[in-house]
Amino acid sequence: MTENYLSTDVIIVGAGPAGCAAAIDLCRHDLNVIILDKAAFPRDKCCGDGLTTDALRILDELGLRPESITSWNAVTDAIIYSPKGERTVLPLPEGKGQFAAIAPRIELDHQLLQLATSRGAKLLSPLGFSNLEQFDDFVKVETTDGTNILARYVIAADGMWSSVRKAVNNGIEGYRGDWHAFRQYFSNTGPNAQHLTVWFEPDLLPGYVWLFPLPGQRANVGFGILRDRNHKLKDMGRLWKDILTRPHIREILGNEAIAVGTHKAWPIPTRMKKLESTSGRVFFTGDAIGVADPMTGEGIAQALQSGRLAASALTKAGPYDASKARSQYRLSLDKALSRDHQFAGQLQSLLTSPVATELAIKAANMNRWTRRNFARWLFEDYPRALILTPDRWKFGALSNDGAYQANERKISAEDADLLLIGESE
Ligand SMILES: Cc1cc2nc3c(=O)[nH]c(=O)nc-3n(C[C@H](O)[C@H](O)[C@H](O)COP(=O)(O)OP(=O)(O)OC[C@H]3O[C@@H](n4cnc5c(N)ncnc54)[C@H](O)[C@@H]3O)c2cc1C
Repeated sequence: MTENYLSTDVIIVGAGPAGCAAAIDLCRHDLNVIILDKAAFPRDKCCGDGLTTDALRILDELGLRPESITSWNAVTDAIIYSPKGERTVLPLPEGKGQFAAIAPRIELDHQLLQLATSRGAKLLSPLGFSNLEQFDDFVKVETTDGTNILARYVIAADGMWSSVRKAVNNGIEGYRGDWHAFRQYFSNTGPNAQHLTVWFEPDLLPGYVWLFPLPGQRANVGFGILRDRNHKLKDMGRLWKDILTRPHIREILGNEAIAVGTHKAWPIPTRMKKLESTSGRVFFTGDAIGVADPMTGEGIAQALQSGRLAASALTKAGPYDASKARSQYRLSLDKALSRDHQFAGQLQSLLTSPVATELAIKAANMNRWTRRNFARWLFEDYPRALILTPDRWKFGALSNDGAYQANERKISAEDADLLLIGESE
C-alpha cells in the first residue's frame, strides 16, 4: 500500500448502531479501524428511540452502560390499544434485568461511538464517503474532502440511502424503503404519558402510533405506515395533525404537552432478502441491508447484530480470503436474522386487517401468562420465529434474563447492604 494514503484494516462508513457495533468487535480483535461519518456527533437520528430486549442484550455485551445516557428510561410494561380501543397492559418480567428501554438516539449513538473510539477505532467526522474502487486484496475509499483510504475491507453501515451501495451499484431500482415513520419530541406531557403506549389505529394498520416516555415528562411520539399499503404518505404532515387531535391519544399525551424542535420523517428499509449483503470486499449492515423488523420497523437490534456478524466474518476469514468472509457473513445473517425477518413479514400482512389485529390482541390478553409472554415476544426477548425453528429450541429459551442483570444484582446487593446498615443503626 502507498505511503501517501491513509491505510487501515477496515473502513466503516457510518457511525450508527451497525457501524459502532462492528467497530467495537473489530477493535476487540486488535484490527485497525477507521470510522467515517458525514455527520458531526452528537447527531440526532430520526427514530422512536425504543430498545428491545435483543438490542439491550447486545448493548450490554458491547459494554454500553445505561448510566452513561442521561435520558435512559427502563420500561417495565407496555400499554397497547386495539383498533377498537381495547386497552391491554403487557407487563415485562421484574427483577431479571431490563427487557425494554428508551434512549434518545442523539445520546445513545454518541455514547456507542465514544465506546468504539475508546477501544481504538479512529473517527473521521464530519467527513462523507465519496467513492470506492475494489482491487484483489484491498479497497480504496475516497472521502468527500479527497482523502484516499486503503483498507482490506469496507463495512457499509451508512443507513437507508447508503452511498456505498450506490457506489457499487447493487441497489434496488427506485427503492424508497418499506415503512415511512414520523417522529416528534414533546415536553410537559401529562400524567398518563408515563407508560410506553402503542395505538393500533384502524386507518394506519399494520402501522401504529407510539408514545415512548422519557424522564422529566418528555416523550418521543410518532407513527409509522407502510409505503405500499398506505396512500397517505404525501399527507403525513396533515395526518400527524389529525392524529394529535384524536381524543384517546390526546388524553394520554396530555393537553399541555409541548412539541419540541422540528418533527422528522424517514424511511425504514426491511428488504433484506432482496438487497445484496456483500459486494467484493464490501459488507452491508443495518439499514444499508434492510434488516429492520418488517412487522414493527424496529431496526436497532438488527443493525447492532448485523454489524457484529460482519465483524465476525472478517476476523474469521482474515485479510485475504474475501470469498470466505462473504460466505461466512451470508450464512450467519441467514441463521441469525433471515427466518425471523420472513416470519415477521408474514405477520405484517396479517396485521393489515383490523379484525385480525383485534383477535391477536385479544389472544395476547387472555391471561397473565399470555400477556407476559406476548410482551417478551413483542420486545424481541426471543427470536420472532422461534416457534417455527426447532434448531433454536433449548431449555429456558422463554425465560431468559434481560440485559444489565449483573448491574441490577449489584445494585440490589448494595441496597441490601444499606438496609443492613440501616437496621444495625
Ligand atoms: C421514525 C423512526 C422510528 C424508529 N423507531 C425505532 C425504534 O423505536 N426502535 C428501533 O429499534 N428502531 C427504530 N427505527 C429504525 C432504526 O432507526 C434504524 O433501523 C437504525 O437506526 C439503523 O441503524 P444503522 O446503524 O443501520 O443506520 P443509521 O442509524 O441510519 O446510521 C447511519 C450513519 O451513516 C452516516 N452516513 C450516511 N451516509 C453517509 C456517507 N455518505 N458518508 C459517511 N457517513 C454516512 C449517517 O450520518 C449515520 O450516522 C425507527 C426508524 C424511524 C425512521
